[in-house]
Parts: sequence; C-alpha cells; structure tokens
Amino acid sequence: MAIHKDDRVMLSLDDIPRKWYNIGGDVQLPPPVDPKTNEPAKPETLEAIFPKRIIAQEISTDRYIDIPEEVRDAYVMLQRPSPLQRARRLEQFLKTPAKIYFKREDLSPAGSHKPNTAIPQVYYNMKEGVEHLTTETGAGQWGTALSLSCAHFGLDCQVWMVRVSFDQKPFRRLIMESYGGKVYASPSPHTNFGRKLLEQDPNNPGSLGIAISEAIESCVTHKNTKYALGSVTNHVILHQTVIGQEVIKQLEMIDVQPDYMIACVGGGSNFGGFAFPMMEQKLKGKIDTEFIAVEPKSVPSLTEGEYRYDFGDTAGMTPLFKMYTLGHDFMPSPIHAGGLRYHGMAPTVSAVTNMGLVTPVSYVQTETFEAALTFAKTEGIIPAPESSHAIKAAIDKALEAKKTGEEKVIVFNLSGHGLLDMAGYGKYIHGELK
Ligand SMILES: *Cc1c(COP(=O)(O)O)cnc(C)c1O
Repeated sequence: MAIHKDDRVMLSLDDIPRKWYNIGGDVQLPPPVDPKTNEPAKPETLEAIFPKRIIAQEISTDRYIDIPEEVRDAYVMLQRPSPLQRARRLEQFLKTPAKIYFKREDLSPAGSHKPNTAIPQVYYNMKEGVEHLTTETGAGQWGTALSLSCAHFGLDCQVWMVRVSFDQKPFRRLIMESYGGKVYASPSPHTNFGRKLLEQDPNNPGSLGIAISEAIESCVTHKNTKYALGSVTNHVILHQTVIGQEVIKQLEMIDVQPDYMIACVGGGSNFGGFAFPMMEQKLKGKIDTEFIAVEPKSVPSLTEGEYRYDFGDTAGMTPLFKMYTLGHDFMPSPIHAGGLRYHGMAPTVSAVTNMGLVTPVSYVQTETFEAALTFAKTEGIIPAPESSHAIKAAIDKALEAKKTGEEKVIVFNLSGHGLLDMAGYGKYIHGELK
C-alpha cells in the first residue's frame, strides 16, 4: 500500500491557534439561574470558585478570544497541533467506500483532550494569585490533566476521584500523584457532604455529581483556593476549540469536506471543541456537515433526558443550568467509560442540540468495546472506552456508506487512549462484561 498525503496530516508549531472560538458569540444561550431567587445568576457569585478572567470567558459573547502566549507555549508540551489521521486499514477491513479520519487527542501527555483546558485554567488562576485548586475526576483523565497543569505552573492540586474509578484505575491515581496531585476517593471523609453520604452507605460507589459537590465544598471552605471544572461549562468548551480549528485547517490542506463529524459526549467538551468551529460554518450556511454526539445507553442525557434547568452537581450547590439532564440525583451504572457518567450536558451542546444541529445516538458498552478492538487491530491504537463510542458511530456510518455505495467522509475525534483502561478491556475480552 503506497503512502498517501492524507494518511497523516501535520500542522506546524506556528499553526497552534491564536484564538479560541466562542459559540456564545453566534448562539444565544439561556443564562444560569440562581436557585434562591429564580433570577439569572450574578456572575460575581461565581467569584468564590473561579478566577475573574475565567468568569469573563464564561459569560462572554465575543466570537473569538485571544489565547495567551504562555498557554500557546504550554500547548507545545501537549503535542499541539495534533495530527489528523486517515484510518485506511479500518476502511479496508470494513470494505467501505467511505473515508474515515480521526483527530489524535490521545497524544497529549495526559492521554486525552482535557489538558487543552486545564492549562489555561491553571494559568488564569496563577495570574490571579491562587495557590490551591480543587476538582473532581471520573475516570481520572481530568484529575491527570489538572495535576499536570498545576505542576507546570506551580500550583497545588486536590482531586476528588469517583470511588468506582478510584478502585478500577489505581494507575490513574499514581499518575496524578506523580505530578504532585493529592487524590481522595469520593464520597470522602474530608467534607461534610461526603461524611453524610458515607454514613448512609459506606459502600457508595460515588458519581461525578457527588465529587463536584465535595470539590466545591472544599474550595469554599479553604483560603486562597479555587475550583476547576473539566467539562460542561462554556469556558471549558471555549478552550477545547483548538481541536476543531486545527481540524478545519487540516481538512483544507487535503481538500476534503466532512459529511459527518462525530465525537463522544460526557459533559460535552471534546464534542464541542471538535465540532463548534465547523458548526460556525454550518450556521453561516457554508457547509452541510452532520454533527453526531455519541453517549452510553445507560447515561442517555441527550437521547432521553429533558431540556430544562437543573443543578450541575448532586448536592445542589451550583447555579441551575439549562441543559439536557437525567436529573441531578441520577446514579449512573458503573460502566467503564467513566468519563461519560454525567447526568447533564453542556448548556452550549444542549442549546445547539435543541436547535436541531446535532444528531444524538447511544450504544451499550459491549458494542463500543467491540468497535474499540476492531480499531485497535486495524489502526494499532487502543482507544479510551469513551472515545470508542465515537468509533462505533463512525463504523456504523461507514457501513451505511457501504450499503449505499457512497464515498462519505467521516471525521471523528479520538478523545483519548485507553492504556489505563485495560481492566475494562480485560472484562470484555474474557466475556465478563454486560
Ligand atoms: C473526559 C473524557 C471524555 C468525556 O468528556 P467530555 O467533556 O464529554 O469530552 C471523553 N473522552 C475522554 C478520553 C475523556 O477523558
């Protein structure tokens, strides 16, 4: 097989984006609401947990926001710009006329897209003199990204890790600790909320919503401490748009227009970061791409949730966000795609889904692990269980194209690698997964 110029599309360091794209400049978003007053939440109330410049980005309606040079410099450490790669062996295995491309967010040192926002968040906190950051982590990817970024800018990092992941993924914890992060299983005995839950049930498996509540409680009860969120909020998705801007350039270089852009959705940040820059062109009527968001059947916020105001966390400490939600007390089953176990969906992703710009689909985890192994055997990369949801949808679209004989172009986001998720793979390979 000869080498083609679209097998791996590379950008230069100079192509690291200079601005983030803010979809809030193009789409009107319902404001967060204060549950006490039922009025739009005052941005100042967020100052207890976020630095001022992050709050400004959270509510900004500017279409583009400058990326600080120190952040672009750290993006080099994250291996940006990341390659766009053609999955030619997967295409041949499927015998499809479709062309499949994937964006490699698995190549960052943390193994996922999450440092794209951890770096700027820690940077803005450092600039405002914050010394400690608290956060939650599900699968451990976000805690890893924040620990890495805190090490880079010299801040202290405390991570509440959902109990099931803490038990399933001991190496994730060790990576965070290697970067200097402190890691607590959640529910933990270190917060009032955690202690209350442990009294009711010492074996509580935890959830992202619970861990968020604990991290926020610890933030507001300690000095010089702020909180950082790895998904869902507008500023996180803003930072992730480096992914989609690079993809646009890379597709231009090989003169290709995508029919489908596909990403998995937990809180919605890799999907938004990957899809929104291209969606801007769709909003302007320039392209006809279909955007597909893929979630687990057991956490079906977009496919089965309601579009309404709900809390971002389980204890009800956050403002109310207008989003697709399963209810803030929803307890997800302990599936292996830990990063997709969130009850809600980013207000930005929810808004464009409600506008009809997104096609949501869902799969069970045996289907996504099967797709993951097909990808591993053909392309050589073991994908994160989360990313495998996008792969499954890409394979389904490629098989559809085979039936119709159409040369569709499918681009999906490989949000992370799965080398720390081998326990889940082991269960699937040995037939123990339901
Ligand atoms: C966290 C994570 C996700 C899900 O989070 P989003 O905010 O929806 O992107 C997906 N894939 C990987 C590899 C992750 O670490």
